[in-house]
Amino acid sequence: MIFDNLKRVNSRIDSIEHNQEVQLIAVTKTRSTAEIQEAVNAGQVHFGENYLQESLDKISFFKEKNLIWHFIGPIQSNKTALIAENFDWVHSVDRLKIAKRLSDQRDPGLGELNILIQINIDEEQSKSGLLLNNVNEIISEVNDLPNISLRGFMCIPSPKNSANSFSEMANLISKYPFLDSLSMGMSSDLELAIERGATLVRVGTDIFGQRSYN
Ligand SMILES: *Cc1c(COP(=O)(O)O)cnc(C)c1O
Repeated sequence: MIFDNLKRVNSRIDSIEHNQEVQLIAVTKTRSTAEIQEAVNAGQVHFGENYLQESLDKISFFKEKNLIWHFIGPIQSNKTALIAENFDWVHSVDRLKIAKRLSDQRDPGLGELNILIQINIDEEQSKSGLLLNNVNEIISEVNDLPNISLRGFMCIPSPKNSANSFSEMANLISKYPFLDSLSMGMSSDLELAIERGATLVRVGTDIFGQRSYN
Protein backbone atom coordinates (compact mmCIF):
# COMPACT_ATOMS: atom_id res chain seq x y z
CA MET A 1 0.00 0.00 0.00
CA ILE A 2 2.75 2.48 0.95
CA PHE A 3 4.59 1.59 -2.24
CA ASP A 4 1.55 2.39 -4.41
CA ASN A 5 0.71 5.51 -2.42
CA LEU A 6 4.21 6.86 -2.93
CA LYS A 7 3.95 6.21 -6.64
CA ARG A 8 0.65 8.08 -6.71
CA VAL A 9 2.02 11.08 -4.78
CA ASN A 10 5.09 11.24 -7.01
CA SER A 11 2.93 11.26 -10.12
CA ARG A 12 0.79 14.04 -8.63
CA ILE A 13 4.02 16.04 -8.24
CA ASP A 14 5.09 15.26 -11.80
CA SER A 15 1.66 16.22 -13.14
CA ILE A 16 2.20 19.84 -12.13
CA GLU A 17 4.32 21.89 -14.47
CA HIS A 18 7.26 23.33 -12.55
CA ASN A 19 10.77 24.59 -13.21
CA GLN A 20 12.07 24.32 -9.66
CA GLU A 21 13.33 21.04 -8.21
CA VAL A 22 10.76 19.54 -5.81
CA GLN A 23 11.63 17.10 -3.02
CA LEU A 24 8.97 14.93 -1.45
CA ILE A 25 9.31 14.63 2.32
CA ALA A 26 7.49 11.62 3.79
CA VAL A 27 6.11 12.77 7.15
CA THR A 28 6.43 9.89 9.61
CA LYS A 29 5.09 11.16 12.94
CA THR A 30 3.27 8.27 14.71
CA ARG A 31 4.60 5.81 12.08
CA SER A 32 6.58 2.68 12.89
CA THR A 33 10.01 1.71 11.59
CA ALA A 34 8.27 -1.05 9.58
CA GLU A 35 6.20 1.56 7.75
CA ILE A 36 9.26 3.72 7.17
CA GLN A 37 11.11 0.65 5.87
CA GLU A 38 8.42 0.16 3.22
CA ALA A 39 8.90 3.74 2.05
CA VAL A 40 12.69 3.29 2.04
CA ASN A 41 12.31 0.13 -0.05
CA ALA A 42 10.26 2.18 -2.51
CA GLY A 43 13.18 4.61 -2.88
CA GLN A 44 12.06 7.39 -0.52
CA VAL A 45 15.01 9.33 0.97
CA HIS A 46 13.63 12.44 2.70
CA PHE A 47 11.67 11.98 5.94
CA GLY A 48 10.02 14.48 8.29
CA GLU A 49 9.40 14.19 12.03
CA ASN A 50 7.54 16.50 14.45
CA TYR A 51 8.44 15.11 17.85
CA LEU A 52 12.07 14.78 18.91
CA GLN A 53 11.63 11.92 21.37
CA GLU A 54 9.78 9.78 18.88
CA SER A 55 12.20 10.52 16.06
CA LEU A 56 15.51 9.56 17.70
CA ASP A 57 14.93 5.79 17.71
CA LYS A 58 13.83 5.87 14.10
CA ILE A 59 16.83 7.94 12.98
CA SER A 60 19.24 5.58 14.72
CA PHE A 61 17.44 2.50 13.36
CA PHE A 62 18.04 3.72 9.79
CA LYS A 63 21.55 5.10 10.43
CA GLU A 64 23.15 3.01 7.66
CA LYS A 65 20.62 4.01 5.02
CA ASN A 66 21.77 7.60 4.48
CA LEU A 67 18.27 9.01 4.81
CA ILE A 68 17.76 12.77 5.05
CA TRP A 69 15.83 13.82 8.16
CA HIS A 70 13.80 17.03 8.44
CA PHE A 71 12.60 18.38 11.79
CA ILE A 72 9.20 20.02 11.17
CA GLY A 73 7.63 20.36 14.65
CA PRO A 74 7.59 23.17 17.22
CA ILE A 75 10.99 23.59 18.92
CA GLN A 76 11.52 24.02 22.66
CA SER A 77 14.91 25.52 23.37
CA ASN A 78 15.99 22.62 25.61
CA LYS A 79 15.68 20.29 22.57
CA THR A 80 17.95 22.14 20.19
CA ALA A 81 21.14 20.15 20.95
CA LEU A 82 19.59 16.82 19.97
CA ILE A 83 17.94 18.36 16.92
CA ALA A 84 21.27 19.89 15.80
CA GLU A 85 22.98 16.55 16.25
CA ASN A 86 20.46 14.28 14.54
CA PHE A 87 18.78 16.18 11.71
CA ASP A 88 19.83 17.47 8.29
CA TRP A 89 17.14 20.15 7.96
CA VAL A 90 15.07 22.15 10.47
CA HIS A 91 11.93 23.76 9.01
CA SER A 92 10.45 25.23 12.16
CA VAL A 93 12.88 27.90 13.34
CA ASP A 94 10.70 30.79 14.49
CA ARG A 95 13.04 32.97 16.54
CA LEU A 96 16.65 34.12 16.58
CA LYS A 97 17.37 32.40 19.89
CA ILE A 98 16.59 28.97 18.40
CA ALA A 99 18.77 29.66 15.35
CA LYS A 100 21.66 30.71 17.61
CA ARG A 101 21.36 27.60 19.76
CA LEU A 102 21.28 25.32 16.70
CA SER A 103 24.34 27.11 15.35
CA ASP A 104 26.23 26.80 18.66
CA GLN A 105 25.30 23.15 19.10
CA ARG A 106 25.86 21.86 15.57
CA ASP A 107 29.06 19.82 15.33
CA PRO A 108 31.00 21.46 12.46
CA GLY A 109 32.15 17.98 11.44
CA LEU A 110 28.58 17.18 10.40
CA GLY A 111 28.47 20.01 7.86
CA GLU A 112 26.01 22.88 7.95
CA LEU A 113 22.51 22.28 9.26
CA ASN A 114 19.94 23.51 6.73
CA ILE A 115 17.49 25.97 8.27
CA LEU A 116 14.10 27.30 7.24
CA ILE A 117 12.28 30.07 9.06
CA GLN A 118 8.68 29.12 9.77
CA ILE A 119 6.21 31.87 8.90
CA ASN A 120 2.80 32.11 10.58
CA ILE A 121 1.42 33.23 7.25
CA ASP A 122 -2.23 33.52 8.25
CA GLU A 123 -1.44 34.96 11.70
CA GLU A 124 -3.27 32.13 13.47
CA GLN A 125 -3.05 31.99 17.25
CA SER A 126 -2.90 28.18 17.18
CA LYS A 127 0.20 28.08 14.99
CA SER A 128 3.83 28.84 15.63
CA GLY A 129 5.98 30.84 13.28
CA LEU A 130 7.25 34.34 12.78
CA LEU A 131 4.90 37.03 11.47
CA LEU A 132 5.76 38.32 7.99
CA ASN A 133 6.52 41.78 9.36
CA ASN A 134 9.22 40.43 11.65
CA VAL A 135 11.17 38.43 9.08
CA ASN A 136 13.42 41.17 7.79
CA GLU A 137 14.80 42.11 11.19
CA ILE A 138 16.26 38.66 11.95
CA ILE A 139 17.21 37.37 8.55
CA SER A 140 20.71 38.78 8.17
CA GLU A 141 21.64 37.74 11.71
CA VAL A 142 20.44 34.18 11.11
CA ASN A 143 22.21 34.12 7.77
CA ASP A 144 25.52 35.11 9.39
CA LEU A 145 25.53 32.29 11.98
CA PRO A 146 28.17 29.58 11.54
CA ASN A 147 27.41 25.85 11.20
CA ILE A 148 23.93 26.48 9.83
CA SER A 149 22.80 27.43 6.35
CA LEU A 150 19.67 29.54 6.03
CA ARG A 151 17.86 28.15 2.96
CA GLY A 152 14.38 29.69 3.01
CA PHE A 153 10.95 29.53 4.57
CA MET A 154 8.25 27.11 5.67
CA CYS A 155 4.54 27.62 6.34
CA ILE A 156 1.43 25.73 7.40
CA PRO A 157 -1.39 27.88 6.01
CA SER A 158 -4.98 27.90 7.08
CA PRO A 159 -6.61 25.33 4.75
CA LYS A 160 -9.21 27.83 3.59
CA ASN A 161 -6.57 30.26 2.42
CA SER A 162 -3.75 28.11 1.15
CA ALA A 163 -3.55 29.37 -2.46
CA ASN A 164 -3.23 32.95 -1.28
CA SER A 165 -0.77 32.11 1.46
CA PHE A 166 1.45 30.13 -0.90
CA SER A 167 1.59 33.17 -3.20
CA GLU A 168 2.57 35.40 -0.28
CA MET A 169 5.38 32.98 0.56
CA ALA A 170 6.61 33.08 -3.05
CA ASN A 171 6.58 36.85 -2.86
CA LEU A 172 8.52 36.78 0.41
CA ILE A 173 11.33 34.54 -0.83
CA SER A 174 11.68 36.58 -4.03
CA LYS A 175 12.99 39.42 -1.85
CA TYR A 176 15.98 37.32 -0.75
CA PRO A 177 17.79 36.04 -3.85
CA PHE A 178 20.31 34.10 -1.73
CA LEU A 179 17.53 31.77 -0.49
CA ASP A 180 16.38 28.76 -2.53
CA SER A 181 13.93 26.65 -0.52
CA LEU A 182 10.20 26.90 0.20
CA SER A 183 8.63 24.17 2.34
CA MET A 184 4.89 24.23 1.74
CA GLY A 185 2.11 21.89 0.64
CA MET A 186 0.81 18.77 2.37
CA SER A 187 -1.45 15.86 1.30
CA SER A 188 -4.43 18.03 0.40
CA ASP A 189 -2.76 20.98 -1.30
CA LEU A 190 0.62 19.91 -2.68
CA GLU A 191 -0.38 20.75 -6.28
CA LEU A 192 -1.24 24.34 -5.37
CA ALA A 193 2.00 24.68 -3.44
CA ILE A 194 4.14 23.42 -6.34
CA GLU A 195 2.38 25.76 -8.77
CA ARG A 196 3.42 28.60 -6.48
CA GLY A 197 7.04 27.56 -6.10
CA ALA A 198 7.31 24.94 -3.34
CA THR A 199 10.63 23.07 -3.37
CA LEU A 200 9.85 20.80 -0.39
CA VAL A 201 6.40 19.25 0.04
CA ARG A 202 5.55 17.46 3.30
CA VAL A 203 3.16 14.53 2.89
CA GLY A 204 1.99 12.12 5.59
CA THR A 205 -1.59 10.92 5.18
CA ASP A 206 -1.52 10.29 1.42
CA ILE A 207 1.54 8.07 1.81
CA PHE A 208 0.85 6.22 5.07
CA GLY A 209 -2.94 6.53 5.53
CA GLN A 210 -4.86 8.28 8.31
CA ARG A 211 -2.91 8.81 11.54
CA SER A 212 -4.22 7.54 14.84
CA TYR A 213 -2.63 9.07 17.91
CA ASN A 214 -3.42 6.45 20.55
C1 LIG B 1 1.69 16.19 9.96
C2 LIG B 1 2.34 17.25 9.16
C3 LIG B 1 2.39 17.18 7.75
C4 LIG B 1 1.73 16.10 6.94
O1 LIG B 1 0.35 16.33 6.87
P1 LIG B 1 -0.62 15.38 6.02
O2 LIG B 1 -1.87 16.16 5.93
O3 LIG B 1 -0.76 14.11 6.79
O4 LIG B 1 0.01 15.16 4.69
C5 LIG B 1 3.06 18.20 7.09
N1 LIG B 1 3.66 19.22 7.75
C6 LIG B 1 3.63 19.31 9.09
C7 LIG B 1 4.31 20.46 9.77
C8 LIG B 1 2.97 18.34 9.83
O5 LIG B 1 2.93 18.44 11.17
